[in-house]
Amino acid sequence: MLKGVSASTGIAIGKALILKELNYNIQKNNVENAEKEKEKLNLAIDRAKEQLEKTIKSTKEKLGEEKSKIFEAHLLMLDDPEFTGAIISKIEGDKINSEYAVKTTSDELAMIFESLDDAYMRERAADIRDISKRLIKILNGDESLSIEDIDQQCIIIANDLTPSDTAQINKDLVLGFGTQIGGVTSHSAIIARSIGIPAVLGVGEDIKTIKENDILILDGDNGNIIVNPAEDVLIQYREKMQEQRKFRETLLKFKEQESITLDNKKVEVVSNIGSIDDAENALKNGAEGIGLFRTEFLYMSKDNLPTEQEQFQAYKEVLEKLNNKPVIIRTLDIGGDKKLTYLPIGEELNPFLGYRAIRLCLDRKDIFKTQLRALLRASVYGNLKIMFPMISNIQELREAKEVLEECKAELRKEKIEFKNDVQVGIMIEIPSAAVSSDILAKEVDFFSIGTNDLIQYTIAVDRMNERVSYLYDFFNPAVLKLIKMVIENGHKEGKYVGMCGEMAGNKYLIPLLLGMGLDEFSMSASSILNARRIISESNYKECIKIVDKVMALSTSTEIKEYLMSISK
Ligand code: PEP
Ligand code: MG
Repeated sequence: MLKGVSASTGIAIGKALILKELNYNIQKNNVENAEKEKEKLNLAIDRAKEQLEKTIKSTKEKLGEEKSKIFEAHLLMLDDPEFTGAIISKIEGDKINSEYAVKTTSDELAMIFESLDDAYMRERAADIRDISKRLIKILNGDESLSIEDIDQQCIIIANDLTPSDTAQINKDLVLGFGTQIGGVTSHSAIIARSIGIPAVLGVGEDIKTIKENDILILDGDNGNIIVNPAEDVLIQYREKMQEQRKFRETLLKFKEQESITLDNKKVEVVSNIGSIDDAENALKNGAEGIGLFRTEFLYMSKDNLPTEQEQFQAYKEVLEKLNNKPVIIRTLDIGGDKKLTYLPIGEELNPFLGYRAIRLCLDRKDIFKTQLRALLRASVYGNLKIMFPMISNIQELREAKEVLEECKAELRKEKIEFKNDVQVGIMIEIPSAAVSSDILAKEVDFFSIGTNDLIQYTIAVDRMNERVSYLYDFFNPAVLKLIKMVIENGHKEGKYVGMCGEMAGNKYLIPLLLGMGLDEFSMSASSILNARRIISESNYKECIKIVDKVMALSTSTEIKEYLMSISK
């Protein structure tokens, strides 16, 4: 049994599929014999064609004609002289290794496509990069599968999955995943929770003992991966899966109910989403609104910055789907573990402390304004609230609001409709913001506490590093004190305080957060119904007493044990 972190709950049983990372750090080498290098390339092209033909066939059978067209386009590209011809001329002309020739040709062509006005043509840049990666992989002698080649049910085992890898996961085929690195709040874990598949992250080096096609039990509830289990263990887990299915059915009755305690304290249970599809799933799970739309996934699913029109369409669609329920859309929070290939920001020693989110947006006003204009234009289609991430002081907030006002003035001038009184709030996810939340509360409409980052910055523990994950703790007394303070400071100014960090969906913490007066709980769609059950079975006055009790305890172990002992 391998031990990791429980990153997304549930159990999966299936065959292991090992995904290897592509070494994209390709060196330029001079070659003496260009003919030999060309031969190597031609063999790789033939092999890529074979792989693609196989993938087209199985994709057609399992996922339909439409999905297989992507691979047909890749196949055509391998016969396109603009692409393969350019690679060959580089090998001949510059006498360089084929991998480097593929990489540079791909970068050049992708850049040309990305600069075009036509959205369809710009999307082709992604295809060029995909097919080039496939060729480089083959040239490196690596025959392992890529995420898009998966054509049978499996449990993915990998060193790490990037958020964009995870976003490509087809839930019908990928039963769950386990990774060597990462933790509860790395973004691949967050996506796993939103699509509702189990995940065990941060297993460490031991994960390498898993072999292709090993039978695995992925126990997302306890953070374990059991490799080639005995028959009686398999039976035991199948029974557990059955019980969980039944429990989920009993929760369905909470779907249409209000989120209200036994003594009539009303709160909101809303959802975190990263895409339009997630919005659909949130509604299916009874969300009363959207507490956090992580717009960066919109940027990550593309190969170039999404245009104002593309963003407007996406926001409008989500707002219309939610039919006047509140939708908090967060402006771009790129950086940290969320990267954009087409917007390189250079290597940083501490990316989570670096050039990210609002810092990048205030520096790149062109990017920021495109998004704000799209948001404002979409505001007339529903109940939009705009939220800025990573605010660390009041100046940043003022500056961001000024840019928003500039956009409003532009739209007014252009006679484009928008809601003038759209609410503006901020994430409280940096300790300096939490400590000065009394000041910040005066200039916002709402707060949303981002505990994923607030924990890492308060305890100085990297949320991605499995070696220090024992310190990354929802029950840490310092974090709880900060949260209590933020809620009180928000309320003193009559402002609404929500939480969109993963803590909001934690079943042991919900009564405590209720007692602290949290107004809105925003979580992965899969946690909503159980959260609503807990709220419905709680008594607000009792919850206030829980807060007093917890605040008098001094260690997270004591706090956790106490909260578990009273959990419903
Ligand atoms: C957070 O930090 O709590 C949060 C919700 O934002 P993200 O997880 O996207 O950093
Ligand atoms: Mg954050």
